[in-house]
Amino acid sequence: MTELVNPADGVRLEEIADSEVADVAKAVAEARAAFEQWREATPGERAKVLLKVADLVERDAPQITQREVEETGKPLAVMRDGELPFSVDNLRFFAGAARSLDGTGAGVLSSGYTSMLIRRPIGVVGSIAPWNFPLVMAVWKIGPAVAAGNAVVIKPAPRTPRSTLALARLFEEAGAPRGLVGVVTGGAEIGSSLVRDPGVDMVSVTGSTATGREVMRGAVDGLKRVHLELGGKAPALVFEDADLAEMASGVAMGATYNTGQDCTAATRVYVQRSVYAAAVDALADALGRVRAGDPMSDKSDIGPLISAEHRERVAGFVRRAVADGARVAVGGEVPGGPGFYFPPTLVLDADQRSEIVQDEIFGPVVVVVPFDEEDQGVRLANDTRYGLASSIWTRDVARALRVAHRLDVGVTWINDHLPIASEAPHGGVKGSGFGKDMSQEAVGEYSVTRHLMIKHAAPVARDSFRPA
Ligand code: NAD
Repeated sequence: MTELVNPADGVRLEEIADSEVADVAKAVAEARAAFEQWREATPGERAKVLLKVADLVERDAPQITQREVEETGKPLAVMRDGELPFSVDNLRFFAGAARSLDGTGAGVLSSGYTSMLIRRPIGVVGSIAPWNFPLVMAVWKIGPAVAAGNAVVIKPAPRTPRSTLALARLFEEAGAPRGLVGVVTGGAEIGSSLVRDPGVDMVSVTGSTATGREVMRGAVDGLKRVHLELGGKAPALVFEDADLAEMASGVAMGATYNTGQDCTAATRVYVQRSVYAAAVDALADALGRVRAGDPMSDKSDIGPLISAEHRERVAGFVRRAVADGARVAVGGEVPGGPGFYFPPTLVLDADQRSEIVQDEIFGPVVVVVPFDEEDQGVRLANDTRYGLASSIWTRDVARALRVAHRLDVGVTWINDHLPIASEAPHGGVKGSGFGKDMSQEAVGEYSVTRHLMIKHAAPVARDSFRPA
């Protein structure tokens, strides 16, 4: 059993039964049976189910929102007005994408033959999700896979299973074959069983880089396709011509949204030296104005961190940075009172090689580091193992494009940090993994291109390879 706890007050919500290893094989077998039906569904039939699920998520929005807010501590308004409608938009996008999977085409590629390229689903996808955006992550895992004609067995994070369980029920209610979306619950052991199950054809994980590595190892024997969305340590590059007030408010939001528990969070701010002092002042002011508090209040911008252990981990990064000579300009102290709150925190004078600059903290902690020339800024921004997100703050369009092309990342925002859209692929490079969520590309990744080659030339007598 896993006890779900409300991070806003530490109070127990309910207990959820963990799956047994045998339940994994059962869910995979059910998914296989559902896949045999679903692979024959037309794109229009798949789209119809996805559209219906979107409607049902809207119908159940208040309950899903309430449960997710209780489990994660994210502000109610953020879920109600942002993440829930965005999940619905994602589902509707995937419904459309199901009907426009490209790769279909015919041509004479070799004389006397007509070739056709067709997209087929892969089979049963084993998906593993993190706790930071439970509903959105479940939709990103299930939506494109189902749109492409696959079945999915998904394991949500142990602390946040309820939106995923609800979503699976809604697929059934929307008319998907029973077992098309199966859920197994539990932690790494159940996740590992799912990855290794011989009935699983592809594995897709969103989680830390360490988990991605483990999952890849588990997929080796079965030579399974692997889709990895892993950690991040996004840089924000601030040039001397930037609008510092706009930068400060954009970076403060980019760094603290979801209490910084976001793989694309702005975590390292590199500021051109001539405006360093002014940028630090602006950031300190903007971070100081982010309101941490009760998730149920519309006045809260951010809620608590997910757990007491995670808060201790975040606080540990700040403590060790200070012991190493860094300085805390804003926040940094664990507050008293109930809940696992941690304030927006600004750290200065940290060394580029130190862990607070290099490692993913997954909390509302921003480090500011000065740079001199554009080239140095780019080198510092690229100098971590991660490569997921980034932002550039400048009024110079040519510089923005020049620098954007040199960043080794999956997304670059210019004069903003965070916005995403269903149509745009989300995913990283380097230690942030590979594979795209959202967009037509995601649907493509859950399918294989097949080549059919049909001889249309008039029969000719062959001189060789003739049957005796
Ligand atoms: P985590 O890696 O601890 O866990 C992620 C999931 O993997 C959980 O469901 C967990 O139970 C499961 N898991 C853990 N070990 C496993 C194993 N050996 N085999 C199979 N499954 C295993 O990550 P988390 O703490 O839940 O989430 C935070 C991490 O997720 C951060 O690193 C964050 O950057 C990353 N993340 C990435 C994206 C992205 O799109 N790139 C989005 C959200 C979160």
